[in-house]
Amino acid sequence: MEIACLDLEGVLIPEIWIKVAEKTGIDGLKRTTRDEPDYDVLMRYRLDLLKEHYLGITEIQEVIATLTPLNGAVEFVDWLRARFQVVILSDTFYEFAQPFMRQLGYPTLLCHRLVVDEQSRIVDYSLRQENPKRQAIVGFKSMYYRTIATGDSYNDTTMLTEADAGILFNAPQRVIDEFPQFPSVTGYGDLKRQFLKASDRDLTL
Ligand SMILES: [Mg+2]
Repeated sequence: MEIACLDLEGVLIPEIWIKVAEKTGIDGLKRTTRDEPDYDVLMRYRLDLLKEHYLGITEIQEVIATLTPLNGAVEFVDWLRARFQVVILSDTFYEFAQPFMRQLGYPTLLCHRLVVDEQSRIVDYSLRQENPKRQAIVGFKSMYYRTIATGDSYNDTTMLTEADAGILFNAPQRVIDEFPQFPSVTGYGDLKRQFLKASDRDLTL
């Protein structure tokens, strides 16, 4: 059997931190894994900014509640789930992702947790494990599943490398240039076709 492993932000939903930056006017929150490949450096920077602007989990969740998945994402996930086992491997947090999961029909999500204090301030974050996307693939492979993975950014490349097949989706040009070994597509129509191509079964659109 095959498992489709999907990145979340940039593949099915908008970049949460960028949306929060737009809605709150805090430009510094626009930095993502596309700009800073070191996730811990990026997260420490974000948590400092939130503290500086007195933004807690409640304020952030209010912003997230107004957001929707990318156009076509719901249909794409339904299509994929009819053909593959689907798991979302994300570097976001359960506290942020919940409103989107409801809209996507609650697919399986493996991601991180936030540490929130009694005043609802986000004081820290808890990584599920080191190199979580890659390790999930290693785990599935140890159970003899074939894995096909897709993502849009640097934090996906170890997952794409470890998977039986990796696909770049709506990736920035510099990621495409640095990782020419992966097919690169834009739009869900092409992504579907790429999944069919990567599958070892005889599937159709
Ligand atoms: Mg992403």
